[in-house]
Amino acid sequence: MEMVQINKLIDYSAQFLNVGAFRDYCPNGLQVEGRKEIQKVIAGVSASKALIEEAIKQDADLILVHHGYFWKNEEAVITGMKRERIRLLLAHNINLVAYHLPLDAHPDVGNNAMLAKQLGFTTQYTCAEQNIMHVGACELQRLDVLGNRIELALARKPLVIGNPNQNISKVAWCTGGAQGYFSEAIKQGVDAFVTGEISEQMVDMAHESGVAFISAGHYATEKYGVAALAKHWEAQFNLSINLFYTDNPV
Ligand SMILES: [Zn+2]
Repeated sequence: MEMVQINKLIDYSAQFLNVGAFRDYCPNGLQVEGRKEIQKVIAGVSASKALIEEAIKQDADLILVHHGYFWKNEEAVITGMKRERIRLLLAHNINLVAYHLPLDAHPDVGNNAMLAKQLGFTTQYTCAEQNIMHVGACELQRLDVLGNRIELALARKPLVIGNPNQNISKVAWCTGGAQGYFSEAIKQGVDAFVTGEISEQMVDMAHESGVAFISAGHYATEKYGVAALAKHWEAQFNLSINLFYTDNPV
C-alpha cells in the first residue's frame, strides 16, 4: 500500500473519466475535502450516513460514490440529514469523491459497460443525450429467460413488462433512473430496454410498441461502476479498496 496525494488522484480521475465533457446535475470529483494523503478507499453507490459510518469504522481516507451531494434541484442549505452527513465527514477528515454521468458513460469502468459485462450484452453504439444509452446485441433468448438471467446476475428480481415468449436479440440499456429514455430506445428498433427504474406509463408503452421494458433496479444496475473505478485506482496507485453495499430494493 502506498500513499497518494488527493489532488493527484482527482486530477488523474478527471482525465481518465473525461469529466470536462459532461453537463451534469452535480459536481464531479472532490465534493467534501478531507485529509491530503490517501491510502484506504471505501466505495459505495450512494453517500448515505451508513456508508460514512462504515468509512469511520474502517478509518478510510476517502469515500468514492456514484451518488454524492449538491444536486441541481437540492436545497442549498446544510441542515438536517445533510448537515449530519457533512458533519461526520468533516469531523473525521474523510474525503467524499463522486462521479455521476462520467461514471455511467465510461467505456471500460462505466456503469453501462459494467452492466453489459454482467448481462452478456455487447455494445454496438451509444446514443441519446450525452451518449448515455447503449444499444447492442444479446444472445438470442426469450424474454422470460433474459429476466431470469438478469435476476441471477444482479441478485435481484427485475420487473419485466412484455410477452414472456417474445425473442430478444437486440437490446438498449442505461443504468439507474433512465426510464425517460424508453421512447429513444423504441426508436432504435430494439427488442427490449433495460434500465433501473420504471414509471407507470412505461407499461402501456411496452405493450403498444412491442418493446419489452425491464426494470432491473436503480441501485442494482449501478453497483459495478464504482467497484470498477476503485479497482482501477487500486491497480494504478496501489491503494487499499473496500466495497460497501447496502440493501436497497429500488
Ligand atoms: Zn443513479
